Amino acid sequence: MRQYLIAGNWKMNTDPVEAAELAAEIAALLSARPPDDNVSVALCPPFTSLVSAGAKLKESKALLGAQNCHHEAAGAFTGEIAAPMLAALGCTYVILGHSERRRYCGESDSDIRQKIAAAMAAGLTPIYCVGETLEERQAEQTLTVIERQLRRGLDSIALPDASRLVVAYEPVWAIGSGLAASAEQAQEVHAFIRAELGAMYGEKSESILLLYGGSMKASNAPALLAKPDVNGGLIGGASLDANTFVAIAQACGS
Ligand code: PEP
Repeated sequence: MRQYLIAGNWKMNTDPVEAAELAAEIAALLSARPPDDNVSVALCPPFTSLVSAGAKLKESKALLGAQNCHHEAAGAFTGEIAAPMLAALGCTYVILGHSERRRYCGESDSDIRQKIAAAMAAGLTPIYCVGETLEERQAEQTLTVIERQLRRGLDSIALPDASRLVVAYEPVWAIGSGLAASAEQAQEVHAFIRAELGAMYGEKSESILLLYGGSMKASNAPALLAKPDVNGGLIGGASLDANTFVAIAQACGS
């Protein structure tokens, strides 16, 4: 049976009280109208809201994730958060390589590669984000950019099994713009990512979950999620509304 993951990236939104309220609302909706068993759900609040949101997910189907981590496990890195700290808080996932971090924090593919290694060593599953800018798409460089990000970001990263890595295709021009990729555009890139992962990891890569991210909402989710290589979504803005987020989870397999 096809597996799906719907993950909410709350970005720099929600203080601990707001995060607890939103997580509780999502948990209640998931228990009242559960998505199918083959659909996993994750919420990725800011670091400061992981504890309060996580407490509301204890009895729920939803798992907890973070939005970044440092590449070292501990040490003199003032202001940073290490992957083992996230694991100790009950995180299952960590988003790495998001285009906002590439753009605003100058993260390179090789910085991200180190973070992926650290996350895996701590037992977390990285949600590795890749995607092209509008200029790159217009210059027909999309697949070249994705290939580079995959090859560099995953260079020498061993994959024990497919459940230990999630890849999110997030075209930069679609993030927060209200203009999602079409289902056909998403499928084309996802099929390419699937083939690249196959070349890197062989047969076990076939069940790595590939998420689409970029202005996914309840209205466009069914078409995107119906594509054979789209195994879920990384949802930004729409994950801050409990009803919309759960509706997207329910669209999996519909
Ligand atoms: C994101 O930033 O990961 C994202 C997908 O954002 P949005 O859904 O708001 O486009």
